[in-house]
Amino acid sequence: MKKSELKKQRGQKWYDKYQEGVRPQRDQKNFVIGGVAHPRIPWGAEKRFGKVKTKADELCHDCLAEPGMLHIFNCDMEECPKCGDQALICPCKIAEYTEKADLQEDSLT
Ligand SMILES: [Zn+2]
Ligand SMILES: [Zn+2]
Repeated sequence: MKKSELKKQRGQKWYDKYQEGVRPQRDQKNFVIGGVAHPRIPWGAEKRFGKVKTKADELCHDCLAEPGMLHIFNCDMEECPKCGDQALICPCKIAEYTEKADLQEDSLT
């Protein structure tokens, strides 16, 4: 879905309201996996898509993230920062979304 097309379809007001409403979810910078914080992967930076580059105007088809934004919770496009699989179904048991800074950073990431 192109940003420009969506805005034409639904209007700038709808778009702004939607993005405002889901911002708390996009503001959660980390996944907690096994007690360790892993920085989430923003839309367009996924490794599983290889060399396919997200175009500047292309929104996440599921949660309408703009390139560089984090997805909303349970978006089927989000990539797990630990195993690189789809975060929604990967085996890592992502415990919670958190931005707590006192968790130990994973040295592998
Ligand atoms: Zn998304
Ligand atoms: Zn995983």
